[in-house]
Amino acid sequence: MTPLEDAQAFVLGSCPPLAPLTLPRTEALGLVLAEPVVSTEFVPPFANSAVDGYAVRADDVADVPAVLRVVGEISAGAAPQHPVGSGEAIRIMTGAPLPDGADAVVMVEDSERVGDSADGDRVRLTASVRPGAAIRGAGDDVRSGDEVCPAGTVITPSIAGVLASVNAREVTVFPRVRVAVLSTGDELVDDGSPLALGQIRESNKTMLTGLLAEAGCDVVDLGVVRDDEAELARVLESAAADCDAVVTSGGVSMGDYDVVKAVLGRIAEMTWMQIAIKPAKPFAFGRLSGIPIFGLPGNPVSSIVSFELLARPALRRMMGHRRLTRTSLVAVTDADLRRSADGKVHFMRVNGEFGDDGRYHVRPVGSQGSHQLAATATADAMAIVPDGEGLAAGDDVAVLMLH
Ligand code: AMP
Ligand code: MG
Repeated sequence: MTPLEDAQAFVLGSCPPLAPLTLPRTEALGLVLAEPVVSTEFVPPFANSAVDGYAVRADDVADVPAVLRVVGEISAGAAPQHPVGSGEAIRIMTGAPLPDGADAVVMVEDSERVGDSADGDRVRLTASVRPGAAIRGAGDDVRSGDEVCPAGTVITPSIAGVLASVNAREVTVFPRVRVAVLSTGDELVDDGSPLALGQIRESNKTMLTGLLAEAGCDVVDLGVVRDDEAELARVLESAAADCDAVVTSGGVSMGDYDVVKAVLGRIAEMTWMQIAIKPAKPFAFGRLSGIPIFGLPGNPVSSIVSFELLARPALRRMMGHRRLTRTSLVAVTDADLRRSADGKVHFMRVNGEFGDDGRYHVRPVGSQGSHQLAATATADAMAIVPDGEGLAAGDDVAVLMLH
């Protein structure tokens, strides 16, 4: 059996990032920057007020209350019309440019308008402020020339906001991986029709298309392919012509009808692995017309575990991600995680929550069989139980979060 780490290293090594391309920022959400973004603008572009209030000279409010003459008003989006002179104030709104002469803003909560008098409007200010108070300087957030986002940055919604704030209209990113996915098996029914004896409902492809989409891939659903070598070869070859990667489920173990194995053995360069893990021992990886192909096992739980441990990190690497695996942490198990020694690392599906002690506490989901997807689907994480007799309640256990 191949140690998991060796299989992972082999697969990752064969899945380099795709060639970058330049896209409008609006099409790049979720993608990874292949080149840094350097700002050519200041954010904010000009000094402006952080509050609604009065732009003043700080000296004029050293002794309060101070009554100042209101000589104008500036709203956000408007340009100041006159400077603030000694003994004067200008009503200013949040985000409006600071007028010349002013060096601080007193917030409106510390003011009282004292109405018209013969020589104009006046305001009574009740708080002293230091120079610079409530002013947001030009370039406070970003300065022209700053590298706002290094290569490798994932364009999250907030990063997209930063890019918009510096007017980065185009970005150079790693593209989404276009992944063809198919299930194999004569027993699979996916059209809702009644099941004859021997048939089961297809579930892996539905699950895998969702996992792939969640991982940021473009998914091409090739449906269920019968256990027919000629048909499978035709579908796989056309997928390879049109996609960046292929994911199959089923047909990679030792059965007589494991046609994926037979066909890929002929048309692709494959490595067939028995990985020292449970579930998901059988796994196939190779290249078909130059693109990576992941042959996941057919049992639904094995399929998801294999996807999580081997396919997802590799597909993320192709999309330029630097953090490839899910979050892992050391949890404490609240129940025994018993197993027997078999030379494999067991990935037990668990539910978990943070306790008052600040630790993540886990317990196994009901059923651990590799055909029991319903139980696994409720899991929050996989507990990594090393070879041996297992763990007892209260023991530390490494877990890999599933979302
Ligand atoms: P295989 O690896 O093809 O021998 O399949 C192993 C087990 O997984 C068998 O019980 C299959 O019926 C089941 N299986 C294979 N593919 C799927 C699928 N797409 N959805 C649900 N079960 C599947
Ligand atoms: Mg099969």
